[in-house]
Amino acid sequence: TKIQVGLLFGGRSGEHEVSIRSAAAIAQALKTEDNAQKYDLTPVYIHKNGIWEGGETAKSVLQQQTPPHSEGSGNLWDFPPEATQIDVWFPILHGPNGEDGTVQGLLTLMQVPFVGSGVLGSAMGMDKLAMKTAFAQAGLPQVTYKGVNRDKIWSSPCVFPKLCDEIEEEIGYPCFVKPANLGSSVGISKAKARSELETALDEAASYDRRIIIEKGITAREVECAVLGNDDPQASVVGEISYNTDFYDYETKYTEGKAELYIPSPLPDKIFKQVQEIAKQAFIAVDAAGLSRVDIFYEEATGEVYLNEINTLPGFTMTSMYPRLWEATGISFPELVDRLIQLGIQRHQ
Ligand code: ATP
Ligand code: MG
Ligand code: MG
Ligand code: MG
Repeated sequence: TKIQVGLLFGGRSGEHEVSIRSAAAIAQALKTEDNAQKYDLTPVYIHKNGIWEGGETAKSVLQQQTPPHSEGSGNLWDFPPEATQIDVWFPILHGPNGEDGTVQGLLTLMQVPFVGSGVLGSAMGMDKLAMKTAFAQAGLPQVTYKGVNRDKIWSSPCVFPKLCDEIEEEIGYPCFVKPANLGSSVGISKAKARSELETALDEAASYDRRIIIEKGITAREVECAVLGNDDPQASVVGEISYNTDFYDYETKYTEGKAELYIPSPLPDKIFKQVQEIAKQAFIAVDAAGLSRVDIFYEEATGEVYLNEINTLPGFTMTSMYPRLWEATGISFPELVDRLIQLGIQRHQ
């Protein structure tokens, strides 16, 4: 009998639409001959309000690749009937409420295997301060950074100028101000002066309680895909180039604003170094199954800095993660098969 794969997508996150497109690509891959012999697909859609829905609605969202006109109704704790028939879940949810360990906790309690990182790896990989602590502990190279809670930014007018002084002293300009728990560059700003820093802190604080401030560097941006559980493998390295100030939301999602080079024309030694750091980053946060690791190469100094890990990276037909594996010799449908098998193995 075939393995019932529960494709869990959408989600209460700013990256809802990307998730739908990732899920549609995975659904397509499950229909290829080899996969169709092994797997049966059950799509389960999580509405923007958090309600789970299966059946025709989930199928049509996948087909249309756009959210339905009406929000989900019913109770948050009512799951569609087919959710009880799943052998292995494939959560392809990006950002908060899905990539962060919350859904992974629910699936763990359900005692059903699932693709990707568990609770710890997901939570560590979502929170930029937590991940950086783990990376530092593992001795991985990173830019100087500082963490701050939102109450320091909002609650007291005498604390705020002192905080800005501290940032100027410890980090300097330019710096990047980021909400700790987001993705797709949402809420991130680059600050080159005091007034910009103040605005950036206020902006980031509107998204998250936890804020990170990093030294801004001028570097080439490369990404490496990791696949596996305890002995993860690294893909070829890809590189991104763009003409905007940084790789912000608009550059990421506007057709033609960024170019991907796969593989990256990095010097051989750096290429290998990036692959090694990517694997170590994966292990440092206890990731499983898949991750995309974002790394900076500062050409002027020859230094490599680990930026971040994404435990549920974009998985559309044109996303970096599957394209990197394609270039490494694993086709999209084969990649989906491997991820499901890794999910099953991890839970045995
Ligand atoms: P993703 O969509 O990959 O999950 P994210 O929202 O988690 O992204 P980051 O990868 O941390 O955000 O940063 C987004 C972009 O901002 C980077 O790709 C890079 O262009 C720029 N950036 C971030 N940090 C720095 C830094 N310290 N120095 C220079 N540029 C930076
Ligand atoms: Mg990220
Ligand atoms: Mg992300
Ligand atoms: Mg990134």
